Amino acid sequence: MSEKSSKTVDIKSSWDRTLSVLRAELGEATFRSWFKHIEFGELSEKKLLLYVPTKFMKDWIHTHYSDRILAILKNDNIPVSSIIFELQKFKVSKDSEDSNAQKTVKNSKPAASSKFVTNENGDHNSMLGAPLDPNLSFENFVVGGSNELAYAAAKRITEVENVSFNPLFLYGGVGLGKTHLMHAMALEIKKNWPERKVLYLSAEKFMYQFIKALRFKDTMSFKQQFRSVDVLMVDDIQFIAGKDSTQEEFFHTFNSLLDLNKKVILSSDRAPSDLEGFDERIKSRLSWGLVADILPASFELRYEILKQKSAELLKTNNGHHTLDDSVLIFLAKTIVSNVRELEGALNKVVTFSNIMNKKIDVELTKTVLKDLLRSNNKRITIDEIQNKVSNYYNINVDDLTSSRRLRSFARPRQVAMYLAKKLTSRSLPEIGRKFGGRDHTTVIHAVKKIDQLKSENEKFDEDVSVLTQIITSS
Ligand code: ADP
Ligand code: MG
Repeated sequence: MSEKSSKTVDIKSSWDRTLSVLRAELGEATFRSWFKHIEFGELSEKKLLLYVPTKFMKDWIHTHYSDRILAILKNDNIPVSSIIFELQKFKVSKDSEDSNAQKTVKNSKPAASSKFVTNENGDHNSMLGAPLDPNLSFENFVVGGSNELAYAAAKRITEVENVSFNPLFLYGGVGLGKTHLMHAMALEIKKNWPERKVLYLSAEKFMYQFIKALRFKDTMSFKQQFRSVDVLMVDDIQFIAGKDSTQEEFFHTFNSLLDLNKKVILSSDRAPSDLEGFDERIKSRLSWGLVADILPASFELRYEILKQKSAELLKTNNGHHTLDDSVLIFLAKTIVSNVRELEGALNKVVTFSNIMNKKIDVELTKTVLKDLLRSNNKRITIDEIQNKVSNYYNINVDDLTSSRRLRSFARPRQVAMYLAKKLTSRSLPEIGRKFGGRDHTTVIHAVKKIDQLKSENEKFDEDVSVLTQIITSS
């Protein structure tokens, strides 16, 4: 009995190796087309039994790949002389046994397939999930105070078999590294436990899959597919706010996975308690596990990220010109919004330097990034402008949006509209709306009027300059 099972394990691990070889030889796409759904049956009397889903596949694999499969197995000293293909629907159900055998084999050699880490178990991910970007790894993630907790939690999930928290809920503003950490976790879990089914996808894709299942009256298999994973990772779950049936389905999936002690990892742009349009029970259950926030990066972290990314860029771009530290410091100081924009700015600078074939300094950086810097200097809001302007002129904010025509309100109002146009990217109608629902022509008029006054009146021009300073420098 024990001898038989160790044999099963032998041939099974040989079969797994065969698949790896085929994958390497055929390339991922071809491999998946033919071998994704193939299932190992058994080896008996030198005959290898394989289960395939369709007759067409059976014939194709038989004609095209039989010899190669036999050769690889023989090379592995497996006594096999022929292959029998059988349709899966004729298979006697012994699924649980199979998956146990698989576990034993794979556990004994963890990370053996790390080369194919993005594709390992990728059958699951490819149908339902999103592809993983190998560059979004832990190694490429720079840790600082603002993302320390999220990073530590993410790391822990990939290192410890049974972490004490579940789900893990990561949240933070756009471009701060949530998706990066999600990919890093998925990649690492697959590497450390190749047998685990890891499914990573965006909430949007989850919804899309669900709607598709509804349309094709296939919700049973939808449910089953999602509930059979070991790790479910859903990115940007704020997306399903207010989408009731999707949310309901997500909640059921989420609950049943938690009940089975499977891992659930979620990300969102805000904390569970701030998720508007979410059912209260869901919000509360989302925060049962570990909730970790990612804050905007500090100057030091932004600088570290730039240092790492510029080193990579220079390596991969055959850049001839290194970047001065002063440029990195300048970028880290100026681009405060998020890491994505920081990366974008750096890319631009490096590309420019390559194209122009010259070393770039801070002055040149300013020119290259002129537009970006203007909008990035700080995201100025109309509310902020209204506050500062009313403060400056010593009136109430309400007076700026009211319909009162008193000169002492009308002029500051025009100044505020003018600044809203100059310092934000809001459209004229948007600005009008923010000023008590005024028409866009009123905004145009205000802008013209202020321009005119500025040119006529030095004191007034000075006032507007000072205000601009106050708003942009705070
Ligand atoms: P989010 O999902 O939070 O909107 P992403 O994970 O997509 O943000 O991050 C945006 C970009 O910034 C990505 O290219 C990512 O690699 C990079 N990034 C974010 N945080 C870091 C970090 N701490 N270290 C390195 N790169 C980072
Ligand atoms: Mg994201």
